[in-house]
Amino acid sequence: MNNNGPLSLEKAVQLDKKDELAKYRNEFYINEEKIYLDGNSLGLLSKRAEGSLLDILESWKTLGIDGWTGGDNPWFYLAESLGEKMAPLVGAEKDEVIVTGSTTINLHQLAATFFKPEKNRRKILTDSLAFPTDIYALKSQLQLQGCDPEGDLIKVESRDGHTLEEEDIINAMTEDVALIILPGVLYRSGQVLDMERLTKEAHKRGILIGFDLCHSAGSVPHDLSRWGTDFAFWCTYKHLNGGPGATGALYVNKRHFGKAPGLAGWFSSKKDKQFDMEHDLEHEESAGAFQTGTPNILSTAPLIGSLEIFKEAGIENVRNKSLKLTEFMLKALDQELDGYGFKVRSPQDEKRRGGHIFLEHKEAARICKALKAEGVIPDFRAPDGIRLAPVALYNSYGDVWTAVTVLKRIMDKRLYEKYENQRGVIA
Ligand SMILES: *Cc1c(COP(=O)(O)O)cnc(C)c1O
Repeated sequence: MNNNGPLSLEKAVQLDKKDELAKYRNEFYINEEKIYLDGNSLGLLSKRAEGSLLDILESWKTLGIDGWTGGDNPWFYLAESLGEKMAPLVGAEKDEVIVTGSTTINLHQLAATFFKPEKNRRKILTDSLAFPTDIYALKSQLQLQGCDPEGDLIKVESRDGHTLEEEDIINAMTEDVALIILPGVLYRSGQVLDMERLTKEAHKRGILIGFDLCHSAGSVPHDLSRWGTDFAFWCTYKHLNGGPGATGALYVNKRHFGKAPGLAGWFSSKKDKQFDMEHDLEHEESAGAFQTGTPNILSTAPLIGSLEIFKEAGIENVRNKSLKLTEFMLKALDQELDGYGFKVRSPQDEKRRGGHIFLEHKEAARICKALKAEGVIPDFRAPDGIRLAPVALYNSYGDVWTAVTVLKRIMDKRLYEKYENQRGVIA
């Protein structure tokens, strides 16, 4: 960042004027009284996503059952058509991605498909900082396969409690590992893992590898096909702005096409065979095979509009702005809040920094409450983390600057002392 002299609101405003993505802010429903920095938990609603949801409702209203094959976006093909639109965000070919299920269910599906424990190769490798649902799913998959859910799950340790060293992960890729599941971006520190290197090292050792892209999809570009990653899965309600509980997505590398889905259902079927109603499944030979039952059309519909925005804006541009926003935030925090007890736990290095900043503070829970009361929406991660996500499509440098000055005021006036230092039900 061209940074002569200290940061200020003026500087932020200048950067906003030069920002080519700034126009997308108007596409979103923004409460101008607040600064929303929680797009990595729940992305905001865009007018286009709203429009596409209303269009789908309209097709239900007017077409009834014929909405499956009629209207502008026939429901029967929506998972495939959106998979094609999603594919560039993860660097996949169009039939390698399908919009289906949810993160957790898709992990179950992919583990059920790709985890084939053998006598001397029966372990799953993951990490000690993984999102809990991934661990729960992997333990139940181990159990279902007759493995030991504790002993057969290897969790790579973090050296500093916040980040992972690729070196340590590679050292843990031992001969008894059958499958590796890791995040693309860690949900707490926001560290980006070197997915290309990890894929290469896993394959050298004959191990299959899949990534949870919940925090990278829509924020960081991927090149899954070129890397040769076996599979991936992600949600669409964070950076992809699909709405609460929006349908998730998965990727399967095409060299695995033809593999039978571990969890089959009638939507795994070849589309032209599905309504033959045969009891022998002829599954699709694409990512589509990993669907199960009738898709949640109403939870999928907002993605039609939302993915259009990504197509126009371009994921590389989104990433560039995101990096500039987080850099601006890091510099502003350094300038304004040095000595206030905050520790930045996100990587400083651009290659390793995802779309949000993680701050640690012993009063984090009530600092978050004070931030909300003062109009800045962060999110709290127990026991002492504050996540701040300036989202490229709708946040501005001005937002970041103001949020930092609000935080400084809260600390200077000890406004957080009004609150209890405990998390709410949803944090
Ligand atoms: C948000 C998130 C999930 C959530 O899983 P759902 O099935 O969508 O509830 C899983 N993994 C990671 C890494 C996440 O960030």
